[in-house]
Amino acid sequence: MQTQGHDLVSTLDERTSNIRATIENVLVLPLSRHPSPRSVLIIGCGIVGAATAFFLARRGVDVTIIEREGPASAATGAADGAVSVASKRPGPMMVAALSGVALYRELLGDGTLTDLFKPRSTFVVAASDAECAVLEAHAGALRGEGVAVEMLAHETLIARFPALSSNVRMGAEVKGDGHAIGYRIVNRLLSLSGVTVLRGVEAYHLVEAADGRIVAVATSRGELSADAVVIAAGNGAPTLLNCDGVMKPRKGQLLVTERAPALNASMPGSIMSGRYLLSKGSQKGAEVSARGYGLVVDPLVTGQFLIGGTREDSDARQTNDLEAVRHILTDAVAMVPGLADIRLLRAFAGVRTAVIDGLPLVGRLPGRNNLFVAAGFEGDGICLGPVMGQAIAAMACGETPSLDLSSFDPARFTSLEVAA
Ligand SMILES: Cc1cc2nc3c(=O)[nH]c(=O)nc-3n(C[C@H](O)[C@H](O)[C@H](O)COP(=O)(O)OP(=O)(O)OC[C@H]3O[C@@H](n4cnc5c(N)ncnc54)[C@H](O)[C@@H]3O)c2cc1C
Repeated sequence: MQTQGHDLVSTLDERTSNIRATIENVLVLPLSRHPSPRSVLIIGCGIVGAATAFFLARRGVDVTIIEREGPASAATGAADGAVSVASKRPGPMMVAALSGVALYRELLGDGTLTDLFKPRSTFVVAASDAECAVLEAHAGALRGEGVAVEMLAHETLIARFPALSSNVRMGAEVKGDGHAIGYRIVNRLLSLSGVTVLRGVEAYHLVEAADGRIVAVATSRGELSADAVVIAAGNGAPTLLNCDGVMKPRKGQLLVTERAPALNASMPGSIMSGRYLLSKGSQKGAEVSARGYGLVVDPLVTGQFLIGGTREDSDARQTNDLEAVRHILTDAVAMVPGLADIRLLRAFAGVRTAVIDGLPLVGRLPGRNNLFVAAGFEGDGICLGPVMGQAIAAMACGETPSLDLSSFDPARFTSLEVAA
């Protein structure tokens, strides 16, 4: 069912006040065996939880989100925002990213994401033999999935991108990518769907009935019940899933400059160094070291530049350090010399959730008909959040999602057990 604009908001207002009353009474409702749940509890209000809520609400489901801090307070609020196929590893992640970007375009077209999604190309550039090799291999893989890629020799690249250093040897324009700020997407999806977000409420564990179905979530505000539960808790997911060793935090540090409109306007898209592909492990066999640096310079609509960043497996705090800031700035100025003339405004850090095999966990938990997980999106959750939320919403309503989720099936880890 699709409900539009005004109707959607007022219908949801009625439903959300009903669900709030139910929650305040801390009732455990009898479970529906109908494939489409009447009510769903989502744990976590990052982009994945918010998108799942949005698509469930569009189907007429009563949705409540449990959030231990605030919407977009974790990785979603500290991300770069590349909605990009360019950086994805060939295979299921690249295929999913294609669907992810297509959905952003659709949501821009239907007005859902007006002003929030900026379509633009990604220019992957190479400055060394190793980077040229990874770039050529990667461009081939992208083309194999049907992505429009144009290889650019040194002279053409500099002509298109005068801001680039002359040390850059070659580049590839990956067309059809875009950019979106995670917290703004969350805000829009929540306000359009009108779902209830219980802020400052922490989910402790799931409560199961004798038949193994999940009947409630034990939280800091008592037991909350619903017909189905979605765990979209990022780095909070391992505790809820009892799965130490399957997911790990991966910190990233990013920088934002002041506005520099002329330099910004001279850049026809974001620049990603070939080293970013290596640091992210976007090519098979690439290693992620304890602290990897991969350069991305994104010209924002504000006229500022967002510059990233690190991948760090040794530290899960949202902190910055001078060594990282200096390293990122040195790399950025080597790639775009004009950045040396503008001021750094701020540095920030966020913590991604990485799964040990490099693929997120998306789907129904084994043996649990009404429990779903969507977590472990590492550095790809802004791109994939909406499309994965849409897929989980379909699955929770008993439908087969249009995106093939088999590679992301949580059942591939036999150690997953729900902390009930
Ligand atoms: C530095 C950096 C750069 C990035 N750049 C990009 C990029 O360019 N492109 C891209 O696509 N992705 C990027 N990402 C990745 C992206 O930000 C994440 O993959 C995405 O935000 C994950 O969304 P999520 O909803 O799964 O998790 P989160 O945003 O982490 O949200 C999970 C939420 O669950 C809540 N929670 C956890 N446990 C509980 C509990 N027990 N009870 C209640 N609430 C709980 C948390 O408070 C949090 O708000 C980047 C990430 C970082 C850190």
